Amino acid sequence: MFRLSQYMDQLHRPSPVRRRRGPPRPVVIWNLTRRCNLRCKHCYTVSADVDFPGELTAAQARETLEDIGRFGVPALILSGGEPLLRDDLFSLARRARALTRVLALSTNGTGVIGAKADRVAEIGFDYVGISIDGIGATNDAFRGVIGAFDQALAGVRSCKRRGIKVGLRFTLTEDNAHQLPDLLRLCDDEGVDKFYLSHLVYAGRGNKHRGDDAAHTPTRRALDLLIARAAASHEGAPPLEIVTGNNDADAVYFLDWAAARFPEDRVAHLRAHLEAWGGNASGVGVANIDTQGDVHPDTYWSDYTIGSVKETPFSALWTGDDPMLAELRRRPRPLKGRCGACMHRAICGGNTRIRALQLTGDPWAEDPACYLTDAEIGVAPGAERLTVRPFTGDRHDPQPWFT
Ligand code: SF4
Repeated sequence: MFRLSQYMDQLHRPSPVRRRRGPPRPVVIWNLTRRCNLRCKHCYTVSADVDFPGELTAAQARETLEDIGRFGVPALILSGGEPLLRDDLFSLARRARALTRVLALSTNGTGVIGAKADRVAEIGFDYVGISIDGIGATNDAFRGVIGAFDQALAGVRSCKRRGIKVGLRFTLTEDNAHQLPDLLRLCDDEGVDKFYLSHLVYAGRGNKHRGDDAAHTPTRRALDLLIARAAASHEGAPPLEIVTGNNDADAVYFLDWAAARFPEDRVAHLRAHLEAWGGNASGVGVANIDTQGDVHPDTYWSDYTIGSVKETPFSALWTGDDPMLAELRRRPRPLKGRCGACMHRAICGGNTRIRALQLTGDPWAEDPACYLTDAEIGVAPGAERLTVRPFTGDRHDPQPWFT
């Protein structure tokens, strides 16, 4: 996750660079249930409004939560499916509140109303992220249910009324990129605290619809808008925390933006911060537990399982000798193609490896969603690059690099 507003602040109010000592404890994104009342086009968990067998029982979930707490994860994000549809969500959340420093809820927002919103407020979530992929009918088309936009907006308003920090989560594609200005306006009109732009990841339904991924030019325009909005907060506009996810090239794009406007020493300071961050954190600073209890390097790597919390505690799996985790934690990573030759890999970390894997079967191939030009990444002009082929049903061996 690239915290754009935070790095914008570094250009205006520099603070010392903090370097990690040893491997960090990961932020854990925990998909508590695959059940969901919506049917989103890009859903990476391929959720539906049915019971899915094999999900963690209340006792297994509770045991996992205690282990996570003892392990000392800095943040826990309860997600789904739609997490509010899990019966023991509030009992788990109440215990999680006591065990983790930062507790967040990732929801489609349609159920954060009335008594449920009261309980969310009472538990004291640090943040509630609500997914909205466009205004009105655009959102509803993405989410597969008419009225989903109005319901999600009601959820946003419920949170605001109860003093809960709330953010909009927007997945950028060809079909909704034009509505980004409206979404930012909506944030300001509703007093939303945070805006998260996710680039499309080719996983679950997102892989089937990868042909809809925003092309490089609209992606750059989207970043221009976000940077302008983050800058405006330093010029009197209301505060709006802006973050992006799943395309760490955003950090390099922002560095170039800063280099054209700020003195050299400030830009060098920003670069030092970005290198300390290091870009893609799959398997390092982020971990995923899916609804079945399987642990993955991040939410999109459902094809690669480190182990199951039904058999082994999360803490033991994460600190064990899993070969893919060891690879992801290597520095520098064994990147290939444009990513291997890129002069900014120390900032970006090679971006989102699952996209490379889905297109080529090789997790170390270049990320096809990098929208930076050859000149911007310091490679010879005209070098061949990977392009995104629409999904045709072909499938790579899920773990070809170990077989
Ligand atoms: S070429 Fe690869 S490493 Fe360089 S910025 Fe783009 S995605 Fe990141």
